[in-house]
Amino acid sequence: MTGIEELLLSRIRDVADYPEPGVMFKDITPLLADPAAFTALTDALAAIAASTGATKVVGLEARGFILGAPVAVRAGLGFIPVRKAGKLPGATLSQAYDLEYGSAEIEVHAEDLSADDRILIVDDVLATGGTAEASIELIRRAGAEVAGLAVLMELGFLSGRARLEPALQGAPLEAL
Ligand code: AMP
Repeated sequence: MTGIEELLLSRIRDVADYPEPGVMFKDITPLLADPAAFTALTDALAAIAASTGATKVVGLEARGFILGAPVAVRAGLGFIPVRKAGKLPGATLSQAYDLEYGSAEIEVHAEDLSADDRILIVDDVLATGGTAEASIELIRRAGAEVAGLAVLMELGFLSGRARLEPALQGAPLEAL
């Protein structure tokens, strides 16, 4: 394990049975509270943004906002929030997706994305890949290109990477 991997891992707190029994919640608040770790994470994600040739960063509500916004600033790129349904005031594009029980919907301001954009999607945790898959679909429907997906961590046992492979169409999936 590299130094940065050790640093980041040491600042992620496992919370058992949250928000429901059987889930091991990955709490990143200790990492956010540590300036060295938060800066290292931001720098690493900004380097990914640069390497993918991204023109904008999309952050997924809500922890993707906290991680994605400083990455956009560091990389000199714009930031676009993808929000849960009903939170954005302007004209939106929506994408519904299935959860284990029920469904969810995410939205983006349509005018924020154009055919010239290459988007790096940022989030904290890749679990089943359902949220990321829906955001990829949303970005493509808005006419933009997906440059890649970058997450702090990937829960490998949930096979999100395999699920996302067709949707990513060769764009990189980086998990720090
Ligand atoms: P999924 O759509 O299953 O890949 O879930 C990804 C979203 O749910 C991300 O926005 C994560 O913030 C959140 N999430 C899923 N599982 C966890 C977990 N074990 N710990 C923390 N966040 C999680």
